[in-house]
Amino acid sequence: MNRETGLFENSETDLPNMAYVLENDIKFLSGVGEQRAALLRKELGVHTVGDLLYYFPYRYIDRSRIYSIAEIRDESLTYVQIRARIVGFQHAGSGPKKRFVALVEDATGMAELVWFKGISWIEKRLEQGREYVIFGRPTFFNGQLNLIHPEVESTLSQQNRPTHGVQGVYSTTERLNNGHLGTKALYTLVCNAWSLAEGHIRETLPEALLRENHLIGLKEALRNIHFPENERSLKEARLRLKFEELLGVQLSILLERGRRVERSGGHLFPTVGERFNRFYQEKLPFPLTGAQKRVIREIRRDTVSGHQMNRLLQGDVGSGKTLVALMSMLLACDNGYQACLMAPTEILANQHYATLNRMLEGLPVHVRLWTGSTRKKERTELSASLLSGETDILIGTHALIEDGVQFRNLGLVIIDEQHRFGVEQRARLWSKNDRPPHVLVMTATPIPRTLAMTLYGDLDVSVIDELPPGRKPIKTLHYRDSHRLQVFGFIRNEIRKGRQVYIVYPLIKESEKMDYKDLEDGYAGITQAFPPPEYVTVVVHGKMKAADKEYGMKLFKEGVAHIMVATSVIEVGVDVPNATIMVIESAERFGLSQLHQLRGRVGRGGEQSYCVLMSGDKLSTDSRKRLAAMVETNDGFRLAELDLKLRGPGDMSGTLQSGLAFDLKIANLGQDGQILTLARQAAERILAEDPRLERTENRLLRELAARYRNRREADFSMIS
Ligand code: ADP
Ligand code: MG
Repeated sequence: MNRETGLFENSETDLPNMAYVLENDIKFLSGVGEQRAALLRKELGVHTVGDLLYYFPYRYIDRSRIYSIAEIRDESLTYVQIRARIVGFQHAGSGPKKRFVALVEDATGMAELVWFKGISWIEKRLEQGREYVIFGRPTFFNGQLNLIHPEVESTLSQQNRPTHGVQGVYSTTERLNNGHLGTKALYTLVCNAWSLAEGHIRETLPEALLRENHLIGLKEALRNIHFPENERSLKEARLRLKFEELLGVQLSILLERGRRVERSGGHLFPTVGERFNRFYQEKLPFPLTGAQKRVIREIRRDTVSGHQMNRLLQGDVGSGKTLVALMSMLLACDNGYQACLMAPTEILANQHYATLNRMLEGLPVHVRLWTGSTRKKERTELSASLLSGETDILIGTHALIEDGVQFRNLGLVIIDEQHRFGVEQRARLWSKNDRPPHVLVMTATPIPRTLAMTLYGDLDVSVIDELPPGRKPIKTLHYRDSHRLQVFGFIRNEIRKGRQVYIVYPLIKESEKMDYKDLEDGYAGITQAFPPPEYVTVVVHGKMKAADKEYGMKLFKEGVAHIMVATSVIEVGVDVPNATIMVIESAERFGLSQLHQLRGRVGRGGEQSYCVLMSGDKLSTDSRKRLAAMVETNDGFRLAELDLKLRGPGDMSGTLQSGLAFDLKIANLGQDGQILTLARQAAERILAEDPRLERTENRLLRELAARYRNRREADFSMIS
């Protein structure tokens, strides 16, 4: 590598644009060596000195304050720092209680430092009569201040540190700890790296961008993220580094999108023909909502643009996405293309099939169904009809991907409730044709805008933000288990009025025996409280045979069954307008988004509907917050934002997370929405002027984007 030029031309390097010192192998850093370097690589992905400087503290402690011993009276402080002289040592106890005690004093009093482990190591390092700065959690024992396993540093070596105030704490792993790379050792290494690199750090963001967004320079940011002088400098450092990270992600996403749009031509749907028009004029049972119209217009625009549509349609449960899907598919058919609608479960696929057939009755559109239970004989015939183009619309589950179904002329793929489909499954769909079909992904999981922008930055987003008219808002109530009888009374009343009821049990994993036991016990309890033949109760869950599930669903849909006991398989898409009560058992075990999805199963007709959240009598603070939020609002987006705040994006339903094909080192999607918005806007502005970042003045940004492209590679393999 060419040291003179700083070797910045290579955009594949991990930390472009920094002088070679930062690209030095970490093993050459003083205090590291081969063995520790291997550990750092493996455990933290730290290969170079620069990587280490991008390994940020996960929290900070205030080291500016020195307490006097007398001042510490109780255990209310998490950490204290004292400056005291060692006046004596003592070995005490035996066996597991064996400990080493150093007695210290300052001008105001005495304290004990206690070690249970690593005694011989610490003993060698402490010197009687010397003054140390001691840092640890205060506990009291027999009225005496004790610090167990404190950090101890001689006041002499303390002066060499670049920090005076807030000190970073670095997260470590068991392996690192065993290799003597604990928090403190990492801190020391960072100090070493810093003194080595300080003079060589070059900016990664253009001057103008820094100015416009009131950001500090990289050098200052790196110094302050590791060795902040105060809260304010830490805040500035964080802002700057988060912005850089989010800008890198956005640029890489948007560049990739640009490449995709250029690469793939799109099928053209210019004609609004007989099928669309006749459906609209003769069949549409109600006027479209404004939001539905808008989204259909957006899809129209995409499908005449000459580029492949890649659109995410978000709409709260019950907002009428199915109709948008249907009308888009008719558009495809009118232009001589086939369309395909994929649902995450067989139940839902069947339901879509029934709904579409009903709505399209008498129109020249051939709709067929392909699921895991489609018989072999039918498959053979159906395959032929797809290849000949006789079938216009295919509805199915992911079985149709697994079975490698072939079309004659597939122009549009709609994926319902996308969070159930992994990225990989989407990939297989895409690769089906030479020219990829337009893709519409529909989801009722209200993905907060910030998250959608990052997860689906390569998709355009449409939102149905309006429910069909005449819906009464669902009333949500929270009851503790001890009030179950009251709830049963209420249910009886509704059933007497002719309504139907869902009772849902949490099912965290399809395989969890415990959950099924809950459900079975629950079912037994329900049939006791609601005995047949007066009441008919059906059960539907994931472990049942498809045919049994189907039968249960049918009884409920036709109104024969009053109560449906189910696991969260019914979470997605079931439509029974006469069902007005949704009882969610152990509601504290569900996430907010999931609760909201379940609630959306009721409130679909003209009657007042209710959602009853049952919970244990004891609740954690988070659970209480979640349930209270459900009672308070019906707004899915607000709940999703809150969910993101409470749980962080990592916990938003597992598959959402898997869309995030890179880790963020410092930004937090739950909290940094504003910075993300700024970064997104900046990225859009920059690319509007220079779509491929080819201009010289954008070289830094091109390198920044490349750094994140590597991390996102997995996410894109699917659309190339
Ligand atoms: P989701 O968006 O959850 O998939 P659906 O498409 O299942 O919602 O629609 C929910 C219900 O609302 C269905 O019964 C559907 O017939 C009805 N619906 C859809 N659009 C309208 C509309 N514009 N006016 C009145 N009802 C509508
Ligand atoms: Mg739906």
